Amino acid sequence: MDWEERYADRMGWVRSLEIMDLIRLMSQRPLINFAAGLPDPAGFPVEALKDAADEVLTDDWRSALQYSEPEGYRPLRDWVAADLTRRGVPTSTDQVLIVSGSQQGIDLVARAFLQPGSVLLTEDPTYLSALPIFRSFGVEMSPLAMDDGGLDPDAAGAAMRQPGVKLLYTMANHHNPSGTTLSDDRRRPLLEHAAETGVPILVDEAYLDLRYEPGEPAPLAAAAPEIPILTVGTFSKTVAPAMRVAWLAGPAPVIERIGILKQLTDLHANPFTQRVVHRFLSAGHLPAQVDRLRSLYRGKRDVFLRALERNFGGRATWSRPAGGMFLMLRLPPEQSGTALLEKALEHGVAYVPGSLFYPSGDGENTMRLCFVSASAADIDEGVARLAQVVWS
Ligand code: PMP
Repeated sequence: MDWEERYADRMGWVRSLEIMDLIRLMSQRPLINFAAGLPDPAGFPVEALKDAADEVLTDDWRSALQYSEPEGYRPLRDWVAADLTRRGVPTSTDQVLIVSGSQQGIDLVARAFLQPGSVLLTEDPTYLSALPIFRSFGVEMSPLAMDDGGLDPDAAGAAMRQPGVKLLYTMANHHNPSGTTLSDDRRRPLLEHAAETGVPILVDEAYLDLRYEPGEPAPLAAAAPEIPILTVGTFSKTVAPAMRVAWLAGPAPVIERIGILKQLTDLHANPFTQRVVHRFLSAGHLPAQVDRLRSLYRGKRDVFLRALERNFGGRATWSRPAGGMFLMLRLPPEQSGTALLEKALEHGVAYVPGSLFYPSGDGENTMRLCFVSASAADIDEGVARLAQVVWS
């Protein structure tokens, strides 16, 4: 049977990213890896999770190991609703769906709003692993330029007024890959354009809590809580990605319908890890955990920025993220992040070519660098190797 022919209509667009395969292959030998977006295991709250898992399996094993409610473990939904409310987004429990990773949240929202020919607005660059989701629905991508303050809300508003626009996907805080945070004065105008045009916004707050500058980060939705948008958040970055516990919040009727879609996909998120995360949260561990991650990652960001200054100062530019896990290095225009990758891998250092993140096809002279995974010594060594690769 010719499988390729049989699935071409539905799956013809599915391709592995050859560059990522190359990085994975090369990662099997010792390599300083600025490519993968992996949290530092030193930040995993392993002792608290051991206690939480033990309590769940002692007190609540009947439910924890059983099939469960599609919308998620109610006390965890209550917690997320209360947390959003505290952060200036009044939210009730029926406005929260627990999802199996925010990746699934993005996929479900895409399924709910997009079909072939729909126009999707997104930042340029945007989250690499959201792009194939959107492409799988046959959408037309309409990329919006960013600067150091994020999206231009009026340009986004004008784009929302184009025919066929069905969704805007944005990362307002600590953007992946650029590290940018949407400036305060742009937030309300962006949401007002959404309200005027009726274009739904999906805001990805995956990195909300990973902030290294003073001031508490606010979710985009808090800028105009009366304007309904969809927010996806995750415990992957603050607790551990293996939990696969994340949430989607928005207007109750939308959440209810998307909950039905989710049920068709995987019945429900993992009841055991949802309870473990909930115990962790209700024991009050999160604030100290977030503080610990902030100081760990702030230190690494600063080491990274100093290494860039030493090795690339005056010859390239880079973003200085207030939070998150990534920064973008911009080389002179004649350089290519794609072309340099193989040489970098030979020198034992990996990154992701920035152009992969740009739906417009721009960004050829950029590299995305994850600053949280490597040790401080490896950051120094890896950035020096990168400079050798670029300048020699
Ligand atoms: N959104 C963004 C911007 C991300 O960087 C990631 C993880 N790399 C995700 C969503 C997905 O995270 P998870 O599914 O673990 O919640």
